[in-house]
Amino acid sequence: MSIGVDPDFILDLKKFGVADASTCFNCGNCTAVCSLSTESTPFPRKTIRYLQLGAKEKLLQSPEPWLCYYCGDCTETCPRDANPAEVMMGIRRYLTTKYDWTGISRLFYISKLFEVLAILIIGLLVGVGFYFFHGPMLTDRVALNVFAPNTVIEILDLIMLGVLSVLLLSNGYRMFTAVTGDPAQYLLPDEDGKQPSRGFLIRGIPVSIYLAEFKEFILHLTTQKQFISCKTDSQKMQWFVHLLIMTGYSIIFLFVVVGLRWFQRDEILSIWNPIRFLGYYSTFAILYGTSYAIIGRLRKSKTVYKHTHSSDWAFLALLWLTTFTGILVHIGRLLEMPLSTYYIYVIHLMIAVPMLVIEVPFAKWTHQLYRPLIQYLMKVRERALANN
Ligand code: SF4
Ligand code: SF4
Repeated sequence: MSIGVDPDFILDLKKFGVADASTCFNCGNCTAVCSLSTESTPFPRKTIRYLQLGAKEKLLQSPEPWLCYYCGDCTETCPRDANPAEVMMGIRRYLTTKYDWTGISRLFYISKLFEVLAILIIGLLVGVGFYFFHGPMLTDRVALNVFAPNTVIEILDLIMLGVLSVLLLSNGYRMFTAVTGDPAQYLLPDEDGKQPSRGFLIRGIPVSIYLAEFKEFILHLTTQKQFISCKTDSQKMQWFVHLLIMTGYSIIFLFVVVGLRWFQRDEILSIWNPIRFLGYYSTFAILYGTSYAIIGRLRKSKTVYKHTHSSDWAFLALLWLTTFTGILVHIGRLLEMPLSTYYIYVIHLMIAVPMLVIEVPFAKWTHQLYRPLIQYLMKVRERALANN
């Protein structure tokens, strides 16, 4: 079967952080050292070959870029300094833009100006909204729920959750259709030439298989366990940092978006209250994880921190600043400083909202969905093909 090729594709990929894939001469060394590469899903050599050929359709259908957990082993052993680990990262950025039907993700990744303006404009809109619609600023005590009633913020949060979910899930669906490929491959007739009964099908695969394997999605989403499959000390630390950021962020996201009435209260909860305890855990987890990654990238302390795309800085900076200003709001409440608390609260939301609106459906946070989704789909596909 012929595949469409585009020799200029490699130039386009430079915008996504793929610096020099053209130096690769396909020796296969990287695939040999990669502990996550398998016979059925070999990478990164094959993926880089698709990139060099400009075989965009093949790349779009490839699960391999999402099976790479960016340990950097391949880059350290590449004889041509082609930096295969960073190439895989750049391809993941590119694929994120291809799954996104709005085109916003592409703009965000290829234009620093758009990236900065999008963050500033959304942040300013939040600030302007507060300027016109905030509640009374009581100064005899910190009354955050009078200044910004949690019931109102909760409704706005739920609207935002609805919009973000539609965007993220529709993009996830596009990835799903791309990597599951032609439904006919799962529908081979039996030896008598008849179609066996398979029950209700989604893209040629019985729903029962999707349900039976769904545990894989939950497992990979909650444990990020593929990060430690490389078993190097450096990767164990990467896993730990990812787990801290992911768990901390998920807890805060749930509190803020669906449980704000319990999280944003005017009375200070007891230190033993589970909500306060989980809030402290999440704050520590995100602050430690993002600080570790920022310092690592500034020092270029390991292979995977040597090249940083502007979108990586945006993600880390927004997350770190959101957490830091959240701590300042908490300190303001503890020290009973009403005006400072209200102002910092507005700044906190001016950073947090762009972070959620841009990063969750269009940028780095999509990886949190796509990676476990691919692990899950690989199991589904394997089982569906075995059932043929
Ligand atoms: S990226 Fe490097 S190690 Fe991998 S196939 Fe190309 S030249 Fe060989
Ligand atoms: S970065 Fe690690 S997981 Fe990714 S292709 Fe290279 S060796 Fe494999």
